[in-house]
Amino acid sequence: MAHSSYTLAGTFAFPGMLGSIEATGCPRGARAEDRLNMRRKVTVVGAGNVGATAAQRIVEKELADVVLVDVIDGIPQGKGLDMYQSGAVEGFDMKIVGSNGYEETEGSDLCVITAGLARKPGMSRDDLLKKNEEIVADCVAKVTRYSKDLTLVMVTNPLDAMCEVARRVSKLPKNKVIGMAGILDSARMRAFIAMELNVSMQNIHAFVLGGHGDTMVPLPRYSTVAGVPITELMPPDRVEAICKRTANGGAEIVNFLKAGSAYYAPSAAAVEMVDSIFNDKRKILPCAAYLEGEYGIHGLFVGVPVVLGKNGIEKIIEIKLTAEESAALKKSADAVTELVEKLTV
Ligand code: NAD
Repeated sequence: MAHSSYTLAGTFAFPGMLGSIEATGCPRGARAEDRLNMRRKVTVVGAGNVGATAAQRIVEKELADVVLVDVIDGIPQGKGLDMYQSGAVEGFDMKIVGSNGYEETEGSDLCVITAGLARKPGMSRDDLLKKNEEIVADCVAKVTRYSKDLTLVMVTNPLDAMCEVARRVSKLPKNKVIGMAGILDSARMRAFIAMELNVSMQNIHAFVLGGHGDTMVPLPRYSTVAGVPITELMPPDRVEAICKRTANGGAEIVNFLKAGSAYYAPSAAAVEMVDSIFNDKRKILPCAAYLEGEYGIHGLFVGVPVVLGKNGIEKIIEIKLTAEESAALKKSADAVTELVEKLTV
């Protein structure tokens, strides 16, 4: 058989034998060029625990081709090549490359920012502010130079403040800068409810609002099992214990790991956002969104339920809160304000 050649466009050509066979996984019928244009491109900045796992989930779900960027020479290249090769076994055809620069990221539809320091035992997310502000500002400036019309999914902590850094540096519209936190916090709460009641997590919805920090606001009234609020399914002290464990969910894992913080659930949460946006699913998900009056909060990223679709945040959903819940949300927003006031960008 004639030797095969591989081009960046993703076409394998077998000279003199089969012509060319598309390896794009796109529908038949469209011209090859159009089919290639239909492919999505995601840049993941930070090839550490969260970034690399998110990249893997994105290609395994065939959501997009991925460019993995990191400052450490060899890490994104090695992880990218390794992941690409796993496609032969896992059966996905997305491309993934690693780089220390941003040229390869050109034309990305979406960027997941995970670059930065993670917590160590005894540290709060807020302790990461100064260093991660510098890193996030640098990454966002570079990625937006090569991709003008992209959506930013922010992961780096302290999350809500890093969303504000990204908004200021990118100058993207507010619907295009979205923070991942509430999905993770809600996933943790769902897991704890499932453990308590010994039922499937699939039947559980949980609601966590507010900033992604110690002041987050789990809402038991809106957290349900097969539509029934958990407040009707367990005594108040168990509900309270679950809310506490949820707010402390990140630290619990940091304390186990000792070096580094959680990444399986965080990457899954970020990729749920990518999926809802790319497939225009319009899922209602708790995300950090820039509020301009909603919930009485002005000019601040705070976790609230939003509709995520092809334009990023399609809608911010305002749910009715009790006086106590409103006060907790305000306290959480005040904690975010304190951090944002320390930003220098
Ligand atoms: P990690 O240390 O495993 O990975 C971070 C990576 O960022 C490293 O590979 C590092 O080399 C890279 N990096 C540093 N500076 C960079 C730069 N200027 N450009 C490109 N890459 C750079 O950490 P992790 O566990 O992947 O966590 C990443 C961030 O995500 C942390 O800030 C962590 O606190 C945060 N996080 C947030 C949530 C959330 O719910 N929002 C959940 C988990 C982790």
